[in-house]
Amino acid sequence: MKFFRRYHTLKILRDHPIADGAWHETTKSLPLLHDLGAVERARLRKLVTLFLHKKAFTGVQGLEVNQAMRLTVAAQACLQILNLGLDAFDGWIEIVIYPGAFRVERQTADDAGLVHQEANILSGESWSRGPVILSWEDVERDSHCLQPGRNVVIHEFAHKLDMGNGRANGMPPLHPEMPVEAWSRALSEAYNTLLRQLQHHHPAWINPYAATDPAEFFAVLCEYFFTAPWVLHEHCPAVYLQLQSYFRQDTLNRRQADATPRQPGC
Ligand code: ZN
Repeated sequence: MKFFRRYHTLKILRDHPIADGAWHETTKSLPLLHDLGAVERARLRKLVTLFLHKKAFTGVQGLEVNQAMRLTVAAQACLQILNLGLDAFDGWIEIVIYPGAFRVERQTADDAGLVHQEANILSGESWSRGPVILSWEDVERDSHCLQPGRNVVIHEFAHKLDMGNGRANGMPPLHPEMPVEAWSRALSEAYNTLLRQLQHHHPAWINPYAATDPAEFFAVLCEYFFTAPWVLHEHCPAVYLQLQSYFRQDTLNRRQADATPRQPGC
């Protein structure tokens, strides 16, 4: 079985390669990839090739999704699974892209059983066992200029990782060597501290949207882990260590090892 799987993977890599020019353009245009060494870049390229083969992109409201757009999304999504493997994104196929922020309407029931209609404008959304939905305008804004603590692709695909063991709840499937208690303790303490800070109107070090619920907290933490690891490490070293163990990446050291001077933002 393993043999056939490996054969199938090699066949995809051979039959559907990403052209050198397109790949170099992608790695050049995405600041999140600038710190990667040659070995990591090669591994990322393989993952992205397989990702593009297995996932389907759909543009809506007249948006035509071209190869550069697919690569922009896929490369940043696969950065998260660089040391996890593509299986971490199993169970769903589609990525839907709107030209800009999109409106969703949902019905919610309150404690008294009354049903309310809610409308929200979103830059991204992840459905359990369903699609990842993105606003291209937001993807472009976050992808080509480093936005510390903000990256809609990282955010929405972090939800997908979180959903790897059911509903998004702020705890993705942990590796066998990671004690659940250590994860829960580190993230719960950080989450409760954030809630207290906001209750007392103290400025928070993290995007206050993280206080929405534990699932959003995890997704926002992932945004910091990849775009501004120094901020996460300074304010929540225990959380940084948990994310480092989960992603099997040390983004802070990778960033410090990168000799290229770079300014956040554009
Ligand atoms: Zn979210």
